[in-house]
Amino acid sequence: MEDRRGQAEEFAQEWTAAEQRGDAAHAVGLQQGSVPGAHDALVVHEPEMVVVERVFRMAAEGFGVGKIQSRLYAEGLPSPRGRDVWDRRVIRKIIKSDEYRPLTHEEISELVSPEVLARLEADREYSVQWYNRDQVTVRTISESDGNGGRTYKKRKTQRRRPKEEWLAIPVPAYLPRDLVDRARAAMDASKGAERKHLARECEQHRGMHLFEDLVITEVVDKDNRPVPPGVYGHKVLVTVLFSRTMPLIRYGMSDSVKLATSPHCPCGRTFALIDGIQGRVEDVLRFPATSGEQVSVEPIVFHRVMDSVPAGGWQVAEGPEGLTVLLSGVREGFADVTLVDTLRRELKAQGAIVPQVEVRRVPNIPRTTVGKAPLIRARVPGPWRKP
Ligand SMILES: [Zn+2]
Repeated sequence: MEDRRGQAEEFAQEWTAAEQRGDAAHAVGLQQGSVPGAHDALVVHEPEMVVVERVFRMAAEGFGVGKIQSRLYAEGLPSPRGRDVWDRRVIRKIIKSDEYRPLTHEEISELVSPEVLARLEADREYSVQWYNRDQVTVRTISESDGNGGRTYKKRKTQRRRPKEEWLAIPVPAYLPRDLVDRARAAMDASKGAERKHLARECEQHRGMHLFEDLVITEVVDKDNRPVPPGVYGHKVLVTVLFSRTMPLIRYGMSDSVKLATSPHCPCGRTFALIDGIQGRVEDVLRFPATSGEQVSVEPIVFHRVMDSVPAGGWQVAEGPEGLTVLLSGVREGFADVTLVDTLRRELKAQGAIVPQVEVRRVPNIPRTTVGKAPLIRARVPGPWRKP
């Protein structure tokens, strides 16, 4: 008896502490209720929850995070922080968050103390908010500012604690569970299709072997008709066999590849070989467009701007909130701000919602393991990229 009471008090203290530390992040669509001092009185904030539901519905329909971002912009729905353009990480976080996934009474009872359980209304559905889940450490780091001085930035690192240490706080549920599950499954499936490598380079350097045991890859022309080995196709159709949540069937990817004419490779692998890839040598970057769709920006657009920069080397890399431009060996007197303006103007001309652009001076442009320094680098690399 004493023990239980102790548990409940400890729980209340932990909760207050979590709030004070600020790691109990504000959940979009939930707000503090009107009961003074009652920590567990979170209520649904309907205007926000309607937007959250919109995010889940789009995800369940198979929209990727980038497309959801564009649609929210086009529909004039500002981000939780009041910005016009949503951060893709926030969208992803919402879809993955347990705060929106209703649990059964049994499931809840395994996660909370009997005192907390007793306070819940029997005829309502609840989800959980996790407290004490992440340990956040803030460090100050110094970086060269590119002009001989140094700038200081705060870097936050986050470590997930073991699950036994997490604290579950019931919060009112609003969305149907199957909507949340469908949205998560669709997001996992599309991520899988983009991220999983389809082929791996052979050590005999004859090309790349397709992972034929995991993925069926068809090299086809514009009308989905197979092209013979030795001929470049217009695209590839990918069928993923290993995804349990949502198998992908003949998913079209705009890569032009060529199967090797000889099926035999000295390495002994029997998987088909690809010995030519066109396009995708550099990544095509995609941005949310002012039209509500997405715009693909071809490498040539960046080359036009970057090749006139008096620098020894450059790289344009996509980040979660915008672009980072790396420059090495820059001639004295060059103003980064001019480059930022030109890039933003070019992207606007392409129909993109203008992203943040950050220029960083570096001693060397980072190379991949195969020795090339890609000039344009997407955050999610193309599936043909060598490991
Ligand atoms: Zn081989």
